[in-house]
Amino acid sequence: MANVRLEDIKRKFNNVTAIEDITFEIPDGEFWVLVGPSGCGKSTILRTIAGLETATSGKLFIGDRLVNNIPARQRDVAMVFQNYALYPHMSVSQNIGFGLQMRQVDRKIIQERVMNVARSLSLDHLLDRKPKQLSGGQQQRVALGRAIAREPQVFLLDEPLSNLDAQLRDDTRAELKQLHQELGITTIYVTHDQVEAMTLADKIVVLNRGRIQQIGDPQSIYASPANQMVASFLGSPPMNILPAIYESNGFDVSGQLLTIPAVVKEKLQLRQGHSYDLGIRPEHIFINEPPTRQEVNESQLIVEVKVVEPLGRETLIRAGLPGSAVVLNIQVGGDVRPRPGDRLSLQLDLNQLFVFNPKTGDRIL
Ligand code: ATP
Repeated sequence: MANVRLEDIKRKFNNVTAIEDITFEIPDGEFWVLVGPSGCGKSTILRTIAGLETATSGKLFIGDRLVNNIPARQRDVAMVFQNYALYPHMSVSQNIGFGLQMRQVDRKIIQERVMNVARSLSLDHLLDRKPKQLSGGQQQRVALGRAIAREPQVFLLDEPLSNLDAQLRDDTRAELKQLHQELGITTIYVTHDQVEAMTLADKIVVLNRGRIQQIGDPQSIYASPANQMVASFLGSPPMNILPAIYESNGFDVSGQLLTIPAVVKEKLQLRQGHSYDLGIRPEHIFINEPPTRQEVNESQLIVEVKVVEPLGRETLIRAGLPGSAVVLNIQVGGDVRPRPGDRLSLQLDLNQLFVFNPKTGDRIL
């Protein structure tokens, strides 16, 4: 096992900079997830660690060893890809043992290790099958097994679950987590799926346009995102972003006044007449009883229901601010079922309000 340290790693493809300023250190045994939208540079970082790409500049250490110039096969890392590429003519057991066989490990030891790995992945009853006789999830587990059997110092996983259907994906995700708890191998996992990132990671690295946006444990990134990109990326349904103009009493949100408590005002020191983006998560919006004109106070927003999605335990509501294109996601209990066209009065939990600079995306509150 080993820690992995990246110091100011940059990778350019001709004149396109895929990643830059990439600096972090993953302690031995931790599970880190690289997450971000398509093209943000996740795979390039992973492939650089694997030795499949060469850094244009910067230093990469695995353990105490500087590995920039060490070929992939000597780095003692194992990588599992999205398209798991098993050898079709080999059985499950041969596939799992293949890496060991290439290293001319003793046959008995190979057999033993294949058996142990197969057991931990619930593949032991499938050892004689060929890949085409397996389901997608089983094939992916064989690919994981092949990587685990090599007992690498570092495990690199590039979107390993993205070819699986939803149920299988959930199950395999939980298995992966358990496996990591058992084996404790330093793992770096790439995904654009924020649920995978939140559930698997000891630490998440959020990337955008080749640069690190934030590094932290899932809960603290969710509760305290560094900027609007991170805030919008982590969370499902995503955080609502409401363009607003600051007035003396509060925020003008598409013609509705949202008054804010004095303490929040003090913290913000915003300038009147300036534009801001307000952020509020769907679970921090509540529906008031049907409003009468008198009851509507100024810390509420009136919206019109567009779409209602009952999910059993909860209901997701998409609702628009009248006279604007802004649509809010609201997450309420499963027993709440408004109808499209209904007008609702919403109460925002203003203690959970985020404020962003709309130009830079930086978080102000
Ligand atoms: P995805 O989630 O879509 O796989 P990603 O976050 O893994 O994306 P990368 O594959 O690392 O992103 O790509 C980062 C950037 O580098 C992209 O703009 C991509 O077009 C560019 N890039 C990657 N590989 C090459 C290459 N071999 N030649 C030129 N540009 C490349």
